[in-house]
Amino acid sequence: MYKKAGYPKLIIDLNKLRTNVEKVQNMCEDKGVELAGVIKGCSGLIPCAQQFERAGCAYIASSRLEQLQPLREHGIQLPLMMLRVPMLSEVEDVVEICDYSLNSDLDVLKALNVQARIQDKKHNVILMADCGDLREGFWDKDEMVDVAEMVEKEMRNLHLAGVGVNVGCYGSVMATPEKLQELVDIAERIEERIGRELEIISGGATSSLMRVVDDNLPERVNMLRVGEGILLNYDLPHLYGYEMEGMYDDAFRVRAEIIEVRDKPSHPVGEIGFDAFGHRIQYEDRGIRRRALVGIGKCDYGDPDELICCEPGAEILGASSDHTILDVQDVKRNLRVGDIIEFGIKYATLVYLTNSPNIEKVYI
Ligand SMILES: *Cc1c(COP(=O)(O)O)cnc(C)c1O
Repeated sequence: MYKKAGYPKLIIDLNKLRTNVEKVQNMCEDKGVELAGVIKGCSGLIPCAQQFERAGCAYIASSRLEQLQPLREHGIQLPLMMLRVPMLSEVEDVVEICDYSLNSDLDVLKALNVQARIQDKKHNVILMADCGDLREGFWDKDEMVDVAEMVEKEMRNLHLAGVGVNVGCYGSVMATPEKLQELVDIAERIEERIGRELEIISGGATSSLMRVVDDNLPERVNMLRVGEGILLNYDLPHLYGYEMEGMYDDAFRVRAEIIEVRDKPSHPVGEIGFDAFGHRIQYEDRGIRRRALVGIGKCDYGDPDELICCEPGAEILGASSDHTILDVQDVKRNLRVGDIIEFGIKYATLVYLTNSPNIEKVYI
């Protein structure tokens, strides 16, 4: 009978993760900002989601219903927030599963209202403004104000909880104070129209955390939705040079097993065509080198360039679906078949690895 092998394993340090949530939570709290903990980066793994709750987040959020749906039965009591603007075909589930959803379409809002009436609920909506990143959100802000008024006055089973923006995802737009002030200005136009204050001004994701650290978040922004900056803590320290004191960038690591070690030429031998994924690859000829093959591949993590090899002296050469090839010529220890190599991971690899049924998750 097939006995599942132990490797590859994803090692998840829940204490490091919880420390990261606590740090971000405290930073936000000091500035009067509520934190929605975003769990989609780790594919909604329940033990990870629980750390967000324990560390004191105000909401748990994901772009996918299938990640939010199981949380209640695992004891998570925080309000749940749907991040991706809902498909018309999922409004029934959105109302059933989520307390809040982000929205940018009048037809969807109408459908949510109908469903909320059927389910005898009041569903909270946050209207999204597109401030230039060109993913979801109202572009025409007059239209946005009109729709806000319709939600407020005509959709009795919806509650207009506030407004939000997303930047830095598709269009790489920075969450500058000026950009976020645009959102506050829209919120204030809506407030004037409906004659009351909005509870929530949701100023973005990890990229907006820089405004909290720099202490230049516009006064009225009072919620951020943060995933990457907590799970990996990679972008702010490594791309933008922020010192994130007391936070870990190694809460997630993947371990894989060596299945071959040999001295081989570094340039393929024969006529060169395309690799397994249909790409033309340039191979550098460095003569005969010691190579190690490990039993993990693109099917597990996506792109080998998004892995960080932790073995001193080793370098990732490439990968196919199920194999990753390392140059280990300069590795000091005497690597052999059966040895374990550890890798650090980035956002894309984290999403794939946590989502893969072939990767054993080990919580420490
Ligand atoms: C993914 C997502 C977030 C969180 O993004 P991170 O960069 O992981 O912090 C926040 N808001 C929305 C709408 C998202 O889709």
